[in-house]
Amino acid sequence: MSLSLAAREQEGRIALVGLGREGLASLCAGLGLKPFQVSEIYRWIYGRRVLDPLAWTNLPKEARAALAARTSAELPEVTGEQVSSDGTRKFLLRLSDGQAIEAVFIPDGNRRTVCVSSQVGCAVGCAFCLTARMGFRRNLTPGEILGQFFVLEERTDIREVGYNAVFMGMGEPMANRTNLEAALAILEDEEGLGISWRRITVSTSGLADQMEAFARSAVCPRLSLSLNAPTDELRSRLMPVNAKCDLRRLRSVLQNLSRRDRERISLEYILLGGVNDGQEEAEAVARFAKGLKVKVNLIQFNAAEGLPFVPSDAERTRSFQAVLLRRGVPTSIRKSRGQDILAACGQLARNNWPGGGA
Ligand code: SF4
Repeated sequence: MSLSLAAREQEGRIALVGLGREGLASLCAGLGLKPFQVSEIYRWIYGRRVLDPLAWTNLPKEARAALAARTSAELPEVTGEQVSSDGTRKFLLRLSDGQAIEAVFIPDGNRRTVCVSSQVGCAVGCAFCLTARMGFRRNLTPGEILGQFFVLEERTDIREVGYNAVFMGMGEPMANRTNLEAALAILEDEEGLGISWRRITVSTSGLADQMEAFARSAVCPRLSLSLNAPTDELRSRLMPVNAKCDLRRLRSVLQNLSRRDRERISLEYILLGGVNDGQEEAEAVARFAKGLKVKVNLIQFNAAEGLPFVPSDAERTRSFQAVLLRRGVPTSIRKSRGQDILAACGQLARNNWPGGGA
């Protein structure tokens, strides 16, 4: 959970990034500022990314000085960067309590994507994921989620070029839904970071109750369900979360979404050689997807030391896709990026860094 303003005050200065309109209004209480001036502050921080109150030139000088004295422009600190041969860049970020997360910048021609984390570690325990090996440390605050965007904008050209954002880094976003929604409200706000919901995808392992609530929220962008197996037996082996939210439950969540919400959904399927990539599984995925009008993204598994799987070969991958297409399910094969620096899907874990991270 994010800290309340009072709690943060007790710790010293208040971190500006992460405060929504309400938080800013209470920060400004007693400074004699009008509501429109609080809105100005919001635009300075998020619209213009200016975190120094002394530079907020359209506010009275005394208010600026008071705000400078009580706030901090704290962002995650970059303590490592790795660059892949394909241009992907992975950043190791240290948070104020010393915990570390990763965020990834993925350029592709003129297209830019950033992959960000929602938790330190993860409790879900997917068998094919290195983050799972870290276990769960804690949720990120709204400010720490947003801080990754500030840092990546500073270090890359994404702000000029425009970018897509995927919540597919460390953590299960639905297990940190309150803070995620607070961050998305600022991310998607035209006066905030101004990234359209159409350009944001949140990936989940399938926490059904949270997915339902999230889909109803005003900030829900595109949602991606990490399916990875078409039977409960296999899915429970790969993703223990399936024992709590099985395929029948997940399918009914998707089915009950409004048409508009369903158009925002995709299914992710990591192809594990000889495990979930056969024709039989492809037929079963097609049956699962039938009638849901969802798109399927096939993802190449990224082998890593300690993970007991191999990638599906090119022929099995193509045949898997061919079955789905034949059954009328729109299916694409996602290119894997940043494999050589362990920046690809399921490879984020701070102990991949020389010296074991931060
Ligand atoms: Fe957690 Fe996602 Fe890794 Fe599963 S794949 S353990 S949900 S980070």
